[in-house]
Amino acid sequence: MKKIFLNDEPNLEIFLRRNSNSRRMSLRISALDGKITLTGPRNLNLEEFKKFAESKKSWLKSTINSFDTPIFVSEGAKIPILGNKTLISLSDVKKPKKEGSILYVNSHKAVASQVKKYLTEICKIHLGYICNEFAERLGEKFDKMSLRDTRSRWGSCSSDANLMFSWRLIMAPEDILAYVAAHEVAHLKYMNHSKEFWETVEYLFGPYHKERTWLRQNGSSLHRYRFQS
Ligand SMILES: [Zn+2]
Repeated sequence: MKKIFLNDEPNLEIFLRRNSNSRRMSLRISALDGKITLTGPRNLNLEEFKKFAESKKSWLKSTINSFDTPIFVSEGAKIPILGNKTLISLSDVKKPKKEGSILYVNSHKAVASQVKKYLTEICKIHLGYICNEFAERLGEKFDKMSLRDTRSRWGSCSSDANLMFSWRLIMAPEDILAYVAAHEVAHLKYMNHSKEFWETVEYLFGPYHKERTWLRQNGSSLHRYRFQS
Protein backbone atom coordinates (compact mmCIF):
# COMPACT_ATOMS: atom_id res chain seq x y z
CA MET A 1 0.00 0.00 0.00
CA LYS A 2 1.29 3.45 -0.88
CA LYS A 3 2.21 5.72 2.01
CA ILE A 4 1.96 9.47 2.31
CA PHE A 5 3.45 11.80 4.90
CA LEU A 6 2.38 15.20 6.18
CA ASN A 7 4.64 18.24 6.23
CA ASP A 8 6.49 18.53 9.55
CA GLU A 9 5.12 15.18 10.77
CA PRO A 10 7.59 12.52 9.61
CA ASN A 11 6.27 10.04 12.18
CA LEU A 12 2.71 10.05 10.94
CA GLU A 13 2.51 7.32 8.30
CA ILE A 14 -0.68 7.38 6.30
CA PHE A 15 -1.53 4.37 4.18
CA LEU A 16 -3.33 5.26 0.99
CA ARG A 17 -6.07 3.03 -0.30
CA ARG A 18 -7.57 3.90 -3.66
CA ASN A 19 -10.92 2.34 -4.16
CA SER A 20 -13.07 2.63 -7.27
CA ASN A 21 -16.22 2.30 -5.15
CA SER A 22 -15.49 5.20 -2.84
CA ARG A 23 -16.79 8.59 -3.85
CA ARG A 24 -15.05 10.73 -1.28
CA MET A 25 -11.98 10.67 0.92
CA SER A 26 -12.08 9.38 4.47
CA LEU A 27 -9.44 9.01 7.15
CA ARG A 28 -9.47 6.22 9.68
CA ILE A 29 -7.28 5.42 12.66
CA SER A 30 -7.38 1.90 13.99
CA ALA A 31 -7.94 1.98 17.73
CA LEU A 32 -6.17 -1.36 17.87
CA ASP A 33 -2.79 -0.60 16.36
CA GLY A 34 -2.99 3.10 15.50
CA LYS A 35 -2.64 2.46 11.76
CA ILE A 36 -3.87 5.42 9.73
CA THR A 37 -5.65 4.71 6.45
CA LEU A 38 -6.82 7.25 3.91
CA THR A 39 -9.38 5.87 1.50
CA GLY A 40 -10.58 7.68 -1.59
CA PRO A 41 -11.58 7.52 -5.25
CA ARG A 42 -9.11 6.25 -7.86
CA ASN A 43 -9.25 9.35 -10.03
CA LEU A 44 -7.78 11.72 -7.40
CA ASN A 45 -4.09 12.49 -7.51
CA LEU A 46 -1.61 12.23 -4.68
CA GLU A 47 -1.62 15.99 -4.04
CA GLU A 48 -5.36 15.97 -3.41
CA PHE A 49 -5.03 13.12 -0.92
CA LYS A 50 -2.19 14.90 0.80
CA LYS A 51 -4.11 18.16 0.99
CA PHE A 52 -7.06 16.40 2.57
CA ALA A 53 -4.83 14.66 5.14
CA GLU A 54 -3.13 17.98 5.94
CA SER A 55 -6.51 19.55 6.67
CA LYS A 56 -7.17 16.80 9.23
CA LYS A 57 -3.79 17.10 10.94
CA SER A 58 -5.00 18.41 14.30
CA TRP A 59 -7.69 15.73 14.50
CA LEU A 60 -5.13 13.07 13.63
CA LYS A 61 -2.72 14.24 16.28
CA SER A 62 -5.26 14.57 19.06
CA THR A 63 -6.75 11.15 18.27
CA ILE A 64 -3.33 9.53 18.30
CA ASN A 65 -2.51 11.30 21.55
CA SER A 66 -5.58 9.81 23.17
CA PHE A 67 -4.33 6.34 22.23
CA ASP A 68 -1.04 6.93 23.95
CA THR A 69 -0.06 4.53 26.65
CA PRO A 70 -0.96 5.50 30.22
CA ILE A 71 1.68 6.83 32.57
CA PHE A 72 1.33 5.56 36.12
CA VAL A 73 2.30 8.18 38.64
CA SER A 74 4.93 6.66 40.92
CA GLU A 75 8.50 7.19 42.05
CA GLY A 76 10.73 8.10 39.10
CA ALA A 77 7.83 9.10 36.85
CA LYS A 78 7.84 12.50 35.20
CA ILE A 79 4.71 14.59 35.19
CA PRO A 80 4.22 18.07 33.75
CA ILE A 81 3.42 20.81 36.26
CA LEU A 82 2.44 24.06 34.54
CA GLY A 83 3.95 22.47 31.45
CA ASN A 84 7.35 21.73 33.01
CA LYS A 85 8.42 18.11 33.35
CA THR A 86 8.83 17.28 37.01
CA LEU A 87 10.45 14.16 38.44
CA ILE A 88 8.75 12.44 41.35
CA SER A 89 11.26 11.51 44.01
CA LEU A 90 10.94 9.87 47.43
CA SER A 91 12.14 11.78 50.46
CA ASP A 92 11.49 12.34 54.17
CA VAL A 93 9.34 15.45 53.56
CA LYS A 94 6.08 15.58 55.51
CA LYS A 95 4.12 16.63 52.47
CA PRO A 96 5.00 17.10 48.80
CA LYS A 97 7.53 19.80 48.13
CA LYS A 98 8.68 21.04 44.74
CA GLU A 99 12.24 22.15 44.25
CA GLY A 100 13.10 23.11 40.67
CA SER A 101 12.16 20.20 38.46
CA ILE A 102 11.83 17.68 41.31
CA LEU A 103 8.73 16.97 43.36
CA TYR A 104 9.64 15.30 46.66
CA VAL A 105 7.01 13.14 48.27
CA ASN A 106 6.93 11.27 51.56
CA SER A 107 8.41 7.81 51.11
CA HIS A 108 6.06 6.20 53.66
CA LYS A 109 2.81 7.26 52.02
CA ALA A 110 1.11 6.26 48.77
CA VAL A 111 2.87 8.24 46.04
CA ALA A 112 0.07 8.78 43.51
CA SER A 113 -2.47 10.07 46.02
CA GLN A 114 0.06 12.51 47.50
CA VAL A 115 0.86 13.85 44.03
CA LYS A 116 -2.81 14.11 43.09
CA LYS A 117 -3.59 16.01 46.27
CA TYR A 118 -0.65 18.33 45.68
CA LEU A 119 -1.68 19.03 42.07
CA THR A 120 -5.27 19.73 43.13
CA GLU A 121 -4.09 22.12 45.82
CA ILE A 122 -1.80 24.17 43.62
CA CYS A 123 -4.39 24.12 40.83
CA LYS A 124 -6.91 25.61 43.24
CA ILE A 125 -4.49 28.36 44.25
CA HIS A 126 -3.55 29.23 40.65
CA LEU A 127 -7.06 29.13 39.24
CA GLY A 128 -8.53 30.89 42.27
CA TYR A 129 -6.09 33.73 41.82
CA ILE A 130 -6.64 34.08 38.05
CA CYS A 131 -10.44 33.75 38.25
CA ASN A 132 -10.66 36.39 40.97
CA GLU A 133 -8.57 38.76 38.93
CA PHE A 134 -10.59 38.20 35.74
CA ALA A 135 -13.95 38.41 37.53
CA GLU A 136 -12.93 41.66 39.17
CA ARG A 137 -11.87 43.13 35.85
CA LEU A 138 -15.24 42.18 34.42
CA GLY A 139 -17.20 43.47 37.41
CA GLU A 140 -18.69 40.01 37.92
CA LYS A 141 -18.74 37.71 40.92
CA PHE A 142 -18.65 33.96 41.15
CA ASP A 143 -19.95 31.93 44.00
CA LYS A 144 -17.88 28.77 44.32
CA MET A 145 -14.97 27.32 42.42
CA SER A 146 -14.61 23.56 42.46
CA LEU A 147 -12.17 21.12 40.93
CA ARG A 148 -12.98 17.72 39.50
CA ASP A 149 -11.46 15.07 37.29
CA THR A 150 -13.67 15.57 34.28
CA ARG A 151 -13.15 13.85 30.99
CA SER A 152 -15.53 15.70 28.70
CA ARG A 153 -14.76 19.33 29.50
CA TRP A 154 -12.02 21.46 31.01
CA GLY A 155 -14.29 23.85 32.80
CA SER A 156 -17.85 24.99 33.21
CA CYS A 157 -19.87 27.86 34.60
CA SER A 158 -23.36 27.29 35.97
CA SER A 159 -26.24 29.75 35.83
CA ASP A 160 -25.89 30.26 39.59
CA ALA A 161 -22.29 31.42 39.06
CA ASN A 162 -20.40 28.33 40.16
CA LEU A 163 -17.17 27.63 38.34
CA MET A 164 -15.84 24.13 37.85
CA PHE A 165 -12.49 23.09 36.40
CA SER A 166 -10.52 19.94 35.78
CA TRP A 167 -7.55 19.88 38.16
CA ARG A 168 -5.56 18.21 35.36
CA LEU A 169 -5.22 21.68 33.85
CA ILE A 170 -2.41 22.35 36.33
CA MET A 171 -0.30 20.00 34.19
CA ALA A 172 -0.81 22.18 31.09
CA PRO A 173 1.29 25.29 30.39
CA GLU A 174 0.24 28.34 32.42
CA ASP A 175 -1.35 30.14 29.44
CA ILE A 176 -3.72 27.24 28.90
CA LEU A 177 -4.88 27.46 32.51
CA ALA A 178 -5.43 31.21 32.15
CA TYR A 179 -7.32 30.81 28.88
CA VAL A 180 -9.75 28.27 30.38
CA ALA A 181 -10.21 30.56 33.39
CA ALA A 182 -10.95 33.53 31.12
CA HIS A 183 -13.39 31.39 29.15
CA GLU A 184 -15.40 30.34 32.20
CA VAL A 185 -15.29 33.76 33.84
CA ALA A 186 -16.58 35.30 30.57
CA HIS A 187 -19.55 32.93 30.92
CA LEU A 188 -20.49 34.78 34.12
CA LYS A 189 -21.48 37.59 31.78
CA TYR A 190 -22.57 35.67 28.68
CA MET A 191 -24.06 32.19 29.07
CA ASN A 192 -23.42 31.39 25.41
CA HIS A 193 -20.67 31.43 22.81
CA SER A 194 -21.82 34.60 21.08
CA LYS A 195 -19.58 37.17 19.44
CA GLU A 196 -19.79 39.27 22.63
CA PHE A 197 -18.70 36.27 24.66
CA TRP A 198 -15.55 35.71 22.58
CA GLU A 199 -14.80 39.43 22.68
CA THR A 200 -14.94 39.20 26.47
CA VAL A 201 -12.54 36.26 26.48
CA GLU A 202 -10.18 38.29 24.32
CA TYR A 203 -10.59 41.32 26.58
CA LEU A 204 -9.58 39.22 29.59
CA PHE A 205 -6.94 36.98 28.10
CA GLY A 206 -5.87 38.44 24.76
CA PRO A 207 -5.70 36.43 21.54
CA TYR A 208 -6.62 32.87 22.47
CA HIS A 209 -6.34 30.94 19.20
CA LYS A 210 -3.06 29.22 20.15
CA GLU A 211 -4.45 28.04 23.51
CA ARG A 212 -7.66 26.65 22.02
CA THR A 213 -5.61 24.75 19.46
CA TRP A 214 -3.27 23.44 22.15
CA LEU A 215 -6.22 22.06 24.10
CA ARG A 216 -7.67 20.41 21.03
CA GLN A 217 -4.36 18.86 20.04
CA ASN A 218 -2.78 18.06 23.40
CA GLY A 219 -5.61 18.12 25.92
CA SER A 220 -6.10 14.37 25.82
CA SER A 221 -2.44 13.84 26.77
CA LEU A 222 -3.26 15.20 30.26
CA HIS A 223 -5.48 12.18 30.74
CA ARG A 224 -2.61 9.73 30.22
CA TYR A 225 -1.45 10.24 33.79
CA ARG A 226 -2.98 7.70 36.15
CA PHE A 227 -3.12 8.41 39.84
CA GLN A 228 -3.89 5.04 41.34
CA SER A 229 -1.84 4.11 44.38
ZN1 LIG B 1 -17.86 27.86 26.93
